[in-house]
Amino acid sequence: MTGRGTLTEPRARGLGSAAGLLCAWEQGAAVPSGAVGAALLRAAGVVEDLATALDLPLSDSSVLLAAVYARTFGERVQAETSCASCGERLELELPLHRIDPVPEPAAHGTTVVTVPDGADVAGGELLVRCPTLRDVVAAGDAPDPETELLGRCVTDGKGGGVDVAALTPDVRRAADRAAEQLAGAGALVVRSACPGCGGSVSADVDLAALLWQRVTTEAGRVLGEVAELAAAFGWAESEVLALSEHRRAAYLTLVRGRP
Ligand SMILES: [Zn+2]
Repeated sequence: MTGRGTLTEPRARGLGSAAGLLCAWEQGAAVPSGAVGAALLRAAGVVEDLATALDLPLSDSSVLLAAVYARTFGERVQAETSCASCGERLELELPLHRIDPVPEPAAHGTTVVTVPDGADVAGGELLVRCPTLRDVVAAGDAPDPETELLGRCVTDGKGGGVDVAALTPDVRRAADRAAEQLAGAGALVVRSACPGCGGSVSADVDLAALLWQRVTTEAGRVLGEVAELAAAFGWAESEVLALSEHRRAAYLTLVRGRP
């Protein structure tokens, strides 16, 4: 706490209020798509600044995003996917309360991958750490995102950089698997049976994208309501946003019931 107040733009913390939701929507729109999860954690008041959110291991940021989603929109998330075998569209439900934190120290430690004799890796082993959102953003801009992502998370046994593209397929696979395991909830997959063909369907869950989708939809709804009430009563945006959800709904009912 600095003790010094601000005269302009008081930042609504949290996504629970209409004003907070619009702030989160603005902050999410202002960053590259890979960083939206970090922007939402910042907007929700879970972390102090964007840099802190970007440097969280994916295992942590996913658990925090799940908590923000559950707190703001409830515990059940519907996600759509399609069956790879028959093309049937299906809706999967993701129970957020079943997303558990990766047990310490896995999330914050490193996994050692031993490389076979003769491989050109100092120390004869690779150290793999959990990817962060910052790694994901950087990888998104690279010509080969998967190689870039792994390269950022792997060092040799002596702490030096590793040319991931030069690793043998087996070692590369082991390193990929280690990074995925460290990410834990960050690499969430839901599985279900396809109602069309009975086959098994699995879908990667991107909590940041799901939360962002929901924030975008709700922000659109709030903006529409502000526009409606502003036009009807001549109120400023801040005045409409200051109304409780209940009172806003009551005024909307009045406006819409007018002949
Ligand atoms: Zn199917």
